[in-house]
Amino acid sequence: MRYVVSLINKYDAGKFPRDLKEMGIDRAIQLASNENPYPPPEEVVEAIRREVLWINRYPHPEYKDLKERIAEYCEVDYGMISLGSGVMDILKVIADVLLEPFDKVVVPMPSYSYYTFVSMLRDAGVEEVIFEGYKVSVENLSGKLIFLCSPNNPTGNTVNEEVVRTACENFQYVVLDEAYAEFAGKSFVKLLDDYENLIILRTFSKYFGLAGMRIGYALSNEEIAEAIEKIRSPFAISPLSARAAEVALENLEYYEKIRRKIISLRERMRKELEKYYFVYPSEANFLLFKHNRSNLVDEFLERGIILRDVTGLRGLEGYHVRVTVGREKEVEAFVEVLRELNEN
Ligand SMILES: *Cc1c(COP(=O)(O)O)cnc(C)c1O
Repeated sequence: MRYVVSLINKYDAGKFPRDLKEMGIDRAIQLASNENPYPPPEEVVEAIRREVLWINRYPHPEYKDLKERIAEYCEVDYGMISLGSGVMDILKVIADVLLEPFDKVVVPMPSYSYYTFVSMLRDAGVEEVIFEGYKVSVENLSGKLIFLCSPNNPTGNTVNEEVVRTACENFQYVVLDEAYAEFAGKSFVKLLDDYENLIILRTFSKYFGLAGMRIGYALSNEEIAEAIEKIRSPFAISPLSARAAEVALENLEYYEKIRRKIISLRERMRKELEKYYFVYPSEANFLLFKHNRSNLVDEFLERGIILRDVTGLRGLEGYHVRVTVGREKEVEAFVEVLRELNEN
């Protein structure tokens, strides 16, 4: 086995409802994985049902229909799109496409831990640089590749345009993860016109409520897009996923309604949390807060609410928890436990 495999920490996906069942806890409210808490529209479910009748067949490996719809949705050329089985898969393919051993990779922290994971696997030299509250400044940084995330997981804030531009000037390549961009209503796709070395990542897992379908895409110049398409596994996207994503893009009004609901619930959660803790500014569908109870996550878990403990993530000092905005009832349950723990 390669030595680096022993150095890499397993990706921590957090707790899942079935883990609680095994612990004998009968309620399970999942607020730990930043999913859309609402199911996709009926049109999407119906499309999956129809597509499943063809599941004995391989999908066409180019996924033309899906790319055409993404091109329209993102207002980019067809040739700028590459696909993967989720952004996580695309990150790995990008590392395969771009990185040689010892290449310098910069990862501003606190951010998504998978950037370091895929870079280490390529034997790159990873430098995690800490910016409090992910207020990133790249003026004094350079290297082969930098990973930016906007809105950032787990802090929730976006980066500003100047940061992305400077990163494109200072680095050979820039990967900008926009997994939550739709919640913020802010994207840097237009910068692809100005920079040949920018790669923007998007997913159907969060805003479009298709986390289980495993489908993401990258937007970049055509040469990089072709390389990603060449290196990814040929049938990486299930035809069910491709079809679901296509139909999701035909139902943007449904998602816009849900977006408004989620944002209003996020602000309700923020108001409650701020009574007790420091809450980071967020433009996404989750909130990061700093607290002072060593076992807060377990206390919530015992009461059937799964939160993401991000304490110990590089760049976060003290106890930190990330909580996903749930449905109205789930948010009420969260607020109830929050009050119970803090007022007794
Ligand atoms: C959830 C998340 C992903 C994973 O997306 P998939 O498309 O489900 O693989 C990627 N990046 C960030 C920042 C995320 O939070």
